[in-house]
Amino acid sequence: MPLLVMKFGGTSVADLDRIRNAAEKVKREVERGYDVIVIVSAMSGKTNELVGWVEQTSPLYDAREYDAVVASGENVTAGLMALTLQEMDVPARSWQGWQVPINTTSAHAAARFVSIPRENLDAKFAEGFKVAVVAGFQGLSHEGRVTTLGRGGSDTTAVAFAAAFAAERCDIYTDVDGIYTTDPRITSKARKLDRIAFEEMLELASLGAKVLQTRSVELAMRYKVRLRVLSSFEDTDENSGTLVCDEDEIMESKVVSGVAYSRDEAKITLFTIEDRPGVASAIFGPLSDAGVNVDMIVQNISEKDYDEAHSGAVTDMTFSCPVNQVARAKKAMEDAMAAGEIKYDDLIIDTDVAKISVVGIGMRSHAGVAARMFEALSAENINIKVISTSEIKISVLIDRKYMELAVQALHDAFELEKAA
Ligand code: ADP
Ligand code: ASP
Ligand code: MG
Repeated sequence: MPLLVMKFGGTSVADLDRIRNAAEKVKREVERGYDVIVIVSAMSGKTNELVGWVEQTSPLYDAREYDAVVASGENVTAGLMALTLQEMDVPARSWQGWQVPINTTSAHAAARFVSIPRENLDAKFAEGFKVAVVAGFQGLSHEGRVTTLGRGGSDTTAVAFAAAFAAERCDIYTDVDGIYTTDPRITSKARKLDRIAFEEMLELASLGAKVLQTRSVELAMRYKVRLRVLSSFEDTDENSGTLVCDEDEIMESKVVSGVAYSRDEAKITLFTIEDRPGVASAIFGPLSDAGVNVDMIVQNISEKDYDEAHSGAVTDMTFSCPVNQVARAKKAMEDAMAAGEIKYDDLIIDTDVAKISVVGIGMRSHAGVAARMFEALSAENINIKVISTSEIKISVLIDRKYMELAVQALHDAFELEKAA
């Protein structure tokens, strides 16, 4: 029997009416002859509420209990979806992660898949069940505890099931009708793409476009899953939405294909550090040990003059990290200073920054993208604090208050509203 994976995000299962609407879509695919694995998120807002309860109860919470609480949102939706399908005469059964079992690492709140054995679901399909409704975002560690995959993780659950069950397609139903040149909530000029290359979507996702979790795109690329994003609120058919696919399946070729933003960034500068071999490692080693995800890094290129107060050449080091890791980063630096591993005169934290990135595989063969990007930002009087580049993206850190303006200015500058 051909099999489809259909994933419904939080807003698509926000209440009983929406669950019924999603179930109708599932029923239609069953009537077309498919077995279906439905992956559900928690009802919209539920995961945030659960995270809030954990943080209020225990600010430095035990991550195992965080996962136990936060995974529960998906369990409710899975049961309700199975019941709704049964009411529509579709034979359906719900599955929590441990029942499948979805085996993951024990990195709580950031677990990764180890294996998804097919036996239990296959046996149910063989009994005549047409739909398996699986709670997204969660798994089971080898210690036998519930794990979660990180925010937005149901996308990754969907792709992992599509790979494990050799699904014909993995359809991600959400509250927008596809992947756009930028978040359609930031500019009405955002244009829906028919197709986007895995590499581009991977960059956009990792740079903040939360329409797909980064890891889901990685898995789809590795296992050649046909991944599609489409609307759960509109009538859809096999041509709806945006297909994430190999570069050579795409006709359109623009130098820049999308703009992403990440709101919750912070910038930390260590002033007047020694300029000698080993200093970077003495800074970033402790940050890594403290679990800080350092993103952009700049070291002042010009050596400061020899300073009487210091015994040699000095410089400054700036790095960025997610804003909710600032406290940990600060403590790691203060501890390293106290232990005599590093020396700095001052540590300045700026929590009001955002990262804006332009992405496109065309950048590999076209020069001038950076110049055009900086010119567009300068025309809006937006100051760039940090820059980083890779083969197919350029990112800048700017004041958060200019975030929307910067996205709009870059979308205009690269004429993304027009098709190639
Ligand atoms: P779900 O709850 O269905 O998983 P998410 O909120 O996680 O949905 O992701 C969908 C949201 O992603 C959209 O509502 C949109 O605001 C946002 N988004 C960000 N960048 C893009 C983009 N390039 N294209 C489409 N949506 C985007
Ligand atoms: N409910 C989880 C979250 O809000 C997982 C998901 O929706 O993908 O992050
Ligand atoms: Mg999501």
